Amino acid sequence: MKRAKSSSHVFAVRLMQHMVVPTFVLDAERNVLIWNHACERLTGVMADEVIGTRNHWCAFYDSPRYCLADLLALGQTEELAALYAEHTEPGVSGNGLRAENWCTMPRADRRLYLAIDAGPIYDDSGKLIAVVETVRDMTEQKLAQMALQNLAARDGLTGIANRRTFDDRIELEWLRSQRERQPLSMLLIDVDFFKRYNDSYGHQQGDECLRQIASTVEGALFRPADLAARYGGEEFAVIMPNTNSPGAKAVATRICERIRALNLAHAHSDVANHVTISVGVATMTPGAEAARLQSFPDLIAAADAALYAAKHAGRDRHVVADAAACENATAV
Ligand code: GH3
Ligand code: MG
Ligand code: MG
Repeated sequence: MKRAKSSSHVFAVRLMQHMVVPTFVLDAERNVLIWNHACERLTGVMADEVIGTRNHWCAFYDSPRYCLADLLALGQTEELAALYAEHTEPGVSGNGLRAENWCTMPRADRRLYLAIDAGPIYDDSGKLIAVVETVRDMTEQKLAQMALQNLAARDGLTGIANRRTFDDRIELEWLRSQRERQPLSMLLIDVDFFKRYNDSYGHQQGDECLRQIASTVEGALFRPADLAARYGGEEFAVIMPNTNSPGAKAVATRICERIRALNLAHAHSDVANHVTISVGVATMTPGAEAARLQSFPDLIAAADAALYAAKHAGRDRHVVADAAACENATAV
């Protein structure tokens, strides 16, 4: 049998119903006390389906998990990072919590990015009696922000990662590889006789050639962690975390082969009648390379020196940085 509601509870519910912000309230045992109309509209879940239960998660997620109000009620704030895309540290917003997340919204059948606030309510003795959770739909802003970030991270001509993204990633991957004591490889790629290509086929076709090279380089990378970027005009770079020298050499070979197979006519190249590339390969192996490669600029410099060696050895080939220093170029 349901207990009669106190007049203060009735007042609180009416107050909540006037709020345009989707809001629900849990009691100290994490059962839903209040679920306002705005919350019904946003989630498609009606108040009478969740009130008195702990099923509020099902309005936001496909499978059972804690919502922000649960974490606050339970004091399990250490789970914030695992459960939310973004969150502020506990204490930053007073006694409450703040987080953001992509929610599947199973009943509403639309994926939304929600900004979520959870605030505690205490009685006069300081005991937690309820937690109020408010959510705001930030999907449009998030999508706009993601589009801008994507625009800032990608090269306008080719659509692959730009130099800025390369600079950020190489530093990050360098630090990670040092920390995890894993090898890190990179390639520097330069199109052969590209000035002549532009001169004979025109700048527009030069641009199209760069687009095809960019997508071929990117398509030749099989690991999700690998990154292909436009490094400069007709130069490209590849970052390959957890990849040793033989692995990097194999990727360089594959890229050279695929560029040849594109068979883009180049009547004024000295090395072939189609477009070719030269590639410098460098690998940092923790321990073994520690003395020679002290920082990520050293790794880039090693790849650059190997690329230079590949050009001088006749182009249309890759050279591995170690070999560049002590042997002749490695033709493929
Ligand atoms: P090498 O074999 O020694 O690399 O000779 P190269 O002619 O490729 O080298 P160079 O550095 O002399 O010329 C690079 C050319 O790339 C010159 C420049 O106009 C062209 N280039 C750079 N960026 C672009 C671009 O965005 N579009 C086009 N179409 N050409 C570009
Ligand atoms: Mg160049
Ligand atoms: Mg070139």
